[in-house]
Amino acid sequence: MINIVIQKFGGTSVSSVESRNKIVEKVKNKKNEGKNPVVVVSAMGRKGQPYATDTLIDLIKDCKHTSSRDLDLLMSCGEIISSVVLATQLKDQGLDAIPLTGGQAGIITDNYFGSATILKVDTHVLENLIKEGKIPVVAGFQGRNEKGDITTLGRGGSDVTASILGEALQADSVEIYTDVDGIMTADPRLVPNAKVLSSIEYNEVFQLAEYGAKVIHPRAVEISMRANIPIYIKNTYNDSPGTLITNYNKLSVKKSIKNSIITGIAHILNVAQVTVQIKNNKTHFDPLFFTEIANKNISIDLINLFPNEKVFIIQHENIAILEDLLKQKNYDYKIIDHCAKVTIIGNRMRGIPGIMARIVSALSREGIEILQTADSHTTISCLIREEDVEIAVRVLHEEFHLG
Ligand code: ADP
Ligand code: ASP
Ligand code: MG
Repeated sequence: MINIVIQKFGGTSVSSVESRNKIVEKVKNKKNEGKNPVVVVSAMGRKGQPYATDTLIDLIKDCKHTSSRDLDLLMSCGEIISSVVLATQLKDQGLDAIPLTGGQAGIITDNYFGSATILKVDTHVLENLIKEGKIPVVAGFQGRNEKGDITTLGRGGSDVTASILGEALQADSVEIYTDVDGIMTADPRLVPNAKVLSSIEYNEVFQLAEYGAKVIHPRAVEISMRANIPIYIKNTYNDSPGTLITNYNKLSVKKSIKNSIITGIAHILNVAQVTVQIKNNKTHFDPLFFTEIANKNISIDLINLFPNEKVFIIQHENIAILEDLLKQKNYDYKIIDHCAKVTIIGNRMRGIPGIMARIVSALSREGIEILQTADSHTTISCLIREEDVEIAVRVLHEEFHLG
């Protein structure tokens, strides 16, 4: 199949008749360019709006008999509703669209409800539809397991649907349409003068996403990188050029990119720092402690282990379960809740001295306490209190001249 372009539209883009009319324009233009668009949609709107994923979860969150299978079935409805509504609107405007669930589009996953992995994509249904000149409108964020049960791919998973279909159909490109003009140097909700990046390498945007920039799912970046398919991040509401995500070799603005050491800043909210103290041989540290945490399905991050102290962070919602475990073990511990992890990212910071010094000076000038740090060759993360996050991201953005 040739000339296939995946066009994915996020929650706000599909949320009203007006915004869906913008989508109709984008799809029509693609078709007029001689391309074969395959559309992927998210559930409509954000928390509080009737068919948003969080609203659907709330419907049964206080019930006793929720199972992960049933929750997936419920959550998948949000995207299915969007696909039918958008396809109908496309048809009303003269486009031959057809809505499909992820399973109907051939996305086969494992049984890991809530966070399923895609095992394969059976493309024959989509290929036949495209051959007939139809425009498939696929419900994102979902697939089906071998038994036929509907599974979901993890929050933000419609981006993953877009990239996996791009790979399976050997698309020319994947276009992710959202409510901002592209990948920016920081979340514009925190930093009003954040700048749109005209292009960025796969691995840098992967890091931004992995460290909290919600604009694209990190798994979607990985899939398109492995398939070597360019991703464009664009705004549904205007015609600005957006951001091209590709290989370093294909970037057209290498020179200006080389000049900036830092590419962007990301942040994650809602985490808690846990310090377990193992003092004076009073308690023996159980080497299976971390296995037990993993068995409870709690993921830990920013991990620093010292002989007398074990420090790490967890998601706020896991505090109660972890505290039970700490009490069972009779450990002395301290938890600082309501923290945020702020990370600066840049492939060109490798081996350049003084970056940590600038971070520490900038944050301390604002009286922001750093609770913990971690770094790699291309990232430096600081754990701070959540109330400081907005100022922290802004001052670091200024310090590294990203605006
Ligand atoms: P969609 O529903 O379209 O998938 P998301 O809410 O998942 O949209 O992602 C878009 C949002 O990501 C933006 O509104 C923006 O606030 C946020 N965001 C966070 N970091 C960045 C960044 N570095 N660049 C652009 N947007 C970002
Ligand atoms: N609707 C899903 C979510 O809110 C998937 C997505 O939007 O990509 O996580
Ligand atoms: Mg998203």
